[in-house]
Amino acid sequence: MTAPSSPLLSPRPLLIAGPCSAESERQVLTTAEILRRDTAVQIFRAGVWKPRTKPGGFEGVGEPALAWLDKVKSETGMPVATEVAVPRHVEATADHGIDLLWIGARTSADPFAMQELADAIGRLCPDTPVLVKNPVVADIELWIGAIERLRDAGVRNIGAIHRGFRSLGHDVYRNHPRWSVPLELHRRLPQLPLLCDPSHIGGRRDLISPLARTAMDMGFDGLIIETHPDPDSALSDKDQQVTPQYLAEILRNLRHRSSRTATDEPLRQFRLQIDQLDSELLEILARRMAVSKEIGDYKRRHGIPVVQTERYENVLLSRIASAADMGMSEEFIEKLFASIHEESIQNQL
Ligand code: PEP
Ligand code: MN
Repeated sequence: MTAPSSPLLSPRPLLIAGPCSAESERQVLTTAEILRRDTAVQIFRAGVWKPRTKPGGFEGVGEPALAWLDKVKSETGMPVATEVAVPRHVEATADHGIDLLWIGARTSADPFAMQELADAIGRLCPDTPVLVKNPVVADIELWIGAIERLRDAGVRNIGAIHRGFRSLGHDVYRNHPRWSVPLELHRRLPQLPLLCDPSHIGGRRDLISPLARTAMDMGFDGLIIETHPDPDSALSDKDQQVTPQYLAEILRNLRHRSSRTATDEPLRQFRLQIDQLDSELLEILARRMAVSKEIGDYKRRHGIPVVQTERYENVLLSRIASAADMGMSEEFIEKLFASIHEESIQNQL
């Protein structure tokens, strides 16, 4: 995948903000004016057609709101962005010269919808930058598939947005970040600009700032954040929208990390230490597997079943306790030992 050439996608950090939904001309213009005046936000976002999980909610104003975005452009000079989900939306946004499109998490999860959308964008506005949100479920192949459909349809400027993943458990997050997934996307498609959407990950105002900071520290290329002049009265996603004034404060406290790494000597030294420690870790794991294999032979000779739940429970509890003393999290050690145990069992079978 070649790097996108649109200047719209080049600033670092790339900052996009605006309301979840365009609700009125006044709400849209007020928000845009404050963003223009008080923040470094480069692109204005507003949802015009809202894909709601369940029927009965506010589904967006639709086409009339595109005229408000035209006005944002003419009055503030900011480029404007909105979500498209079906070819009809692409026709309307192309008629209005909307500068950037994004594809929502429910659409990127549906290959048929994605194909129709990709064909429409490729036909009507192949140079308009398109940002693809991750699908609602943590399926990286589906996410990459959506990106490939756009690329194959001739769309030239593509980026991605990490907006977290729906999970069954009760979480602090509305959509769990599972950072390893966007990091894997970055490993597979290093040229692709990758933004973070802390609003839909957090689902709560107080989580926006820490999530935005984490994303910047990880090296994301930018952020897309929902903002509303009066969040409590917002017609969609009210719990996660922040006022433009508060957004300005969040952004002032952010530090974007540039990627000057190749010549950094202290960093090189740290990495040498990590390389050394990793090789010791691998050696110890290999020795552990060898002992486990001997145990497997012993169990086979003496007719003892491979899996001994009680022993595993004890191992896990004692490792978690020791790890806690060393300042490591329970969740991490549990995952690590679950994986080691699974491999040991495979070897013993
Ligand atoms: C949005 O950006 O307003 C939106 C609907 O997001 P998502 O597709 O991530 O739920
Ligand atoms: Mn929203």
